[in-house]
Amino acid sequence: MEIYLDANATTPVLAEARAAAMAAMAEDYGNPSSVHGTGLKARALMDAARARARRVLGAPTGQLLFVSGATEGIQTAVLSAMTALRERGRDRAPAPGLLLYGATEHKAVPEAIRHWCEVLQLDMAVLPIPVGTDGRHDLDWLRAHAPRAGLVCTMAVNNETGVISDLDGIAEALRGSAALWLVDSVQALGKVDLRLAQRRIDYAPFSGHKLYAPKGIGLLYVREGAPITPLLAGGGQEAALRSGTENMPGIAALGAVLAALEGGNTFQALPVLEGYRTRLSGALREAFAGIVFNAPAALSLPTTLNFSVPGVGSKLLLDLFDAAEIRVSGGSACSAANAQPSYVLEAMGLPAWRTTSAVRLSFGPAIDDASVEEACRRIRACGEALLLWQSPAQAAPARLQRLALDGACCYVVCDAASRRSVVIDPLPALTPGIVEALRSQGQQLVAVLATQPHRDHLAAAEALRAAMPGASIQAPDTLELGTQALSRLVLPGSEPGTHAYLLRDARGGCVAFVGDALAAPATPTTPALKALAEMVGPQALLLPRHDAEDRIAFTLAGAQDTGKEPATPLALVPSAALALLREHPQARLVDVREPYEQGLGQALGPLPDVGAGVQRQSVPLSGLLDALPDWLALPAETPLLFFCRSGNRSTQAAKALRRLGRANAFSLAGGLALWPRPC
Ligand code: PLP
Repeated sequence: MEIYLDANATTPVLAEARAAAMAAMAEDYGNPSSVHGTGLKARALMDAARARARRVLGAPTGQLLFVSGATEGIQTAVLSAMTALRERGRDRAPAPGLLLYGATEHKAVPEAIRHWCEVLQLDMAVLPIPVGTDGRHDLDWLRAHAPRAGLVCTMAVNNETGVISDLDGIAEALRGSAALWLVDSVQALGKVDLRLAQRRIDYAPFSGHKLYAPKGIGLLYVREGAPITPLLAGGGQEAALRSGTENMPGIAALGAVLAALEGGNTFQALPVLEGYRTRLSGALREAFAGIVFNAPAALSLPTTLNFSVPGVGSKLLLDLFDAAEIRVSGGSACSAANAQPSYVLEAMGLPAWRTTSAVRLSFGPAIDDASVEEACRRIRACGEALLLWQSPAQAAPARLQRLALDGACCYVVCDAASRRSVVIDPLPALTPGIVEALRSQGQQLVAVLATQPHRDHLAAAEALRAAMPGASIQAPDTLELGTQALSRLVLPGSEPGTHAYLLRDARGGCVAFVGDALAAPATPTTPALKALAEMVGPQALLLPRHDAEDRIAFTLAGAQDTGKEPATPLALVPSAALALLREHPQARLVDVREPYEQGLGQALGPLPDVGAGVQRQSVPLSGLLDALPDWLALPAETPLLFFCRSGNRSTQAAKALRRLGRANAFSLAGGLALWPRPC
């Protein structure tokens, strides 16, 4: 069973809200603009939901419009404010020249400001309001700029950190300013007493899906007398301020959530939520030594924990949590796909390691005690899995590892028996991880080598040698690594200082680190490659210094990648994967997740009726090179089916094998995330 702790991204829909939406579709399906009985029923439902929202938000006056969500609410508010500012400029009133937004605002706000500035051709300065290390707005800065501001946007609660803005302090800083004030209240709904009308807030957008209503319904509050320009014109719904037939199932569901808020029996009280935060942060502290929380608890909602763990990247932590079936996110969900540093934490002035490795755990106020208990148990299990993986007693180093960063490759060769290791083409950003891994595995670093005299390699080699004294930079012609031998090759016609290295094992197998001597597709055309072909033969694996396409390895046997779509699909949906295994009981089923992810709950469940022959293997992607020779030696008809958590790493593995000539390599589409669960 998954434990969903990503409530700031979205929440499940409350049972009462689902029932209300179903009723609005099946029974009370009228159009609230119709004047017959069915329409009147729909209008009554809509009026009741709006009245509840007014009570919950403290907005007895002003407009409260049903919109599709916060992004639409923000657009309407920004468009309204800017249209009014443009008019003020035309009337030759003193034009307020500044548009201010909090530096930690959700992107929807500054992007809307820029967009409407461009569309309306408004020439105004757009400035971020700085925040302190506690994540709160710099009120002195705001006070100083307020007299010249036309629009000020300050979110009520930050979505990444849970930091609650000092709305009364902001109101005080804005006293005497004619600026319009937008408060993005998305993350505050149901958690903070907003008292909108009391606070002179001009605009406040909300999204239902952040508090157990479905996606596609939201609210926009507009203060009585504040300017408003409709974003959508048409049939005149919502007093002609937001045309378009209302989303009645969404409104009904939101109404049910608001009723639950008013009723007081569905959501946990603040002290209970604070208790949950204490338990969860305690479990995190136990699990991850040195953990730091990125926002002060006293200023944050108890439902959000944002943290970083020294020496452990957010990708690793997310994989670990996901394997334990705890859903959390890295930074904010919108930027989760690309591992960018969090701009919110950057604005707070946190050090780079914390901004790039942050993880956000957020829960909704409907969470129960049992889920918190189970989450704490699994968090501790994650910590144990990580420790086990890092412990020297357990860690069996892969013989050959490839670490890639932005298309550049670094290789680590380890000999388990002699505990001697070599790093080839090191990169500065990877050195701390390499040092940590080698130390934890009790390895001695005997040499740091480069295929080219590049300054990155030199800097990284220095750092490695400083951390693990004794390693040489100038390799002898041949280096013994237990049963393996590494020798330096000077290829004809290559640049001065450029080398290739050949690694031979006791069984006669060999791989060559060839630097940039290869360009895909690899055919032995240059003198260097011809010489290499003679030395290692056409099937030897050649490992490049750059590999932007993640080919992993090349051979000189000829180009396999024609650029055409392969005849058989590479990614197989679960039913096709099962059919393949049934048809080929000799297949290999390979888990390419890292060891710390395996054994933490989710695995590929029992395989129904696929025969006993299917062999399972665990080969993390970083250690794929080690397994390549065995797989390439399998009979051509033996399929290899790779799987991982989401299908990304397994696709990389299957592609690499296809390019090396294994047409029978496949990836499980969607990975474990889409694999059918036993009921
Ligand atoms: N503002 C904040 C603070 C948010 O957290 C979000 C969503 O994550 C939005 C605005 C945008 O909301 P929506 O995507 O529902 O329109």
